[in-house]
Amino acid sequence: MIEFKNVSKVYPGNQVAAKDVNLKFKDGEFICFIGASGSGKTTCMRMINRMNEITSGEILINGKNINDMDAVDLRRKIGYVIQQIGLLPHMSVYDNIVLVPRLLKWEEDKLRPIAENLIEKVDLPLSYLDKYPSELSGGQQQRIGVIRALAADQDIILMDEPFGALDPITRDALQKLVKRLQKEMGKTIVFVSHDMDEALSLADRIVIMEKGHVVQFDSPENILKNPASKYVEGLLGEEKLNEAKTSYRTVETIMLKDPVSLTSERSTYDALALMRNRRVDTIFVTDEESHLLGAVGMFDIGRFGKNIKSLQEVMDKVYAINKDTVIMSAIRDIYNLDIKNLPVVDDENKLVGLVTRASVVDTIYTNLWENTEDDTFETDEEEADNLSQLMKDASGDTSNKIGEEND
Ligand code: ADP
Ligand code: MG
Repeated sequence: MIEFKNVSKVYPGNQVAAKDVNLKFKDGEFICFIGASGSGKTTCMRMINRMNEITSGEILINGKNINDMDAVDLRRKIGYVIQQIGLLPHMSVYDNIVLVPRLLKWEEDKLRPIAENLIEKVDLPLSYLDKYPSELSGGQQQRIGVIRALAADQDIILMDEPFGALDPITRDALQKLVKRLQKEMGKTIVFVSHDMDEALSLADRIVIMEKGHVVQFDSPENILKNPASKYVEGLLGEEKLNEAKTSYRTVETIMLKDPVSLTSERSTYDALALMRNRRVDTIFVTDEESHLLGAVGMFDIGRFGKNIKSLQEVMDKVYAINKDTVIMSAIRDIYNLDIKNLPVVDDENKLVGLVTRASVVDTIYTNLWENTEDDTFETDEEEADNLSQLMKDASGDTSNKIGEEND
């Protein structure tokens, strides 16, 4: 565990780079520092292994104050990767991979298995260990660069914008690789980035810095849901915020507010009358306090003919969702369970609304149009494509069902 306690850093000339930083990182977490240039990301990261000395406050690693440890020792226990993971051209791939363990004076016979194990993890043949970097493709070299950072088996690895200078495709591939290896090997990674997309896709939690202060420290999901300030919104960008608005909107925002319902001691006769009156084919059954008990459908009642029963006797159990459920998840339920509508309950299981297929279709359409530049689609085909993509995202293979549903 890495803990920042009221950590401040003031550079000569009274340049405050970090102010009262309080953070706790768990073992095995992927942490990203993000923020504008000069906001103190690198400074905070470099204080962890004392490449930058702390001005006031303290940093603890597994409960131990790093200022009580030997600085050289500390740096050996923590991996450090800076911009551009270039390989040394005059050394073999093998020598490149074991560079740090060798610097740490590990025994030579321990190094070979380490290098072999790592190169297998990135799906390159063992014979590549004896090649020189120039004999490898650019992408292969980058992969070797990543495993080199893991060779000394340090629990904590610091990375300062390691992919900053790479083209987007290479960067994407290496991000995925780092994330996979980090999980597989249980590393704690502290990663500085200025790219929000990178932080959102890599991090378990993101530290957002502004002028030396931590302005938000949370999971990507929570930051997207509740950006702490205009500054954070600016870092996220409008597109991400719009996406988040849709994907994190809850059913409460689209549900019908007065689902047709009756209490359980009422009769099938009452139910039929109400159905006719309100032009619905299903009625929800509750107790006196609105707790949802079940539902009755028109055809179920029809089966009893003139035989009047209480709703308690004829109702079926019904699947309901909480009002805080996100819309996408409700859409998934509706299509996967192939149901017309979904009652919505509050935390006490009181019936508070109804999500219908029709309202879901509305939401999807509105969302599609909000995200199109022209305000309308060029062709029906394009519209259908977009729609089916959205449905695929929501529920896998149900993209055709929406076409059948035209109410
Ligand atoms: P970031 O990594 O977020 O771009 P840094 O941590 O590098 O930010 O820098 C934070 C602030 O501290 C900046 O204003 C920067 O100019 C200043 N700073 C960084 N390093 C030094 C230094 N060695 N001496 C003086 N000021 C510095
Ligand atoms: Mg920096």
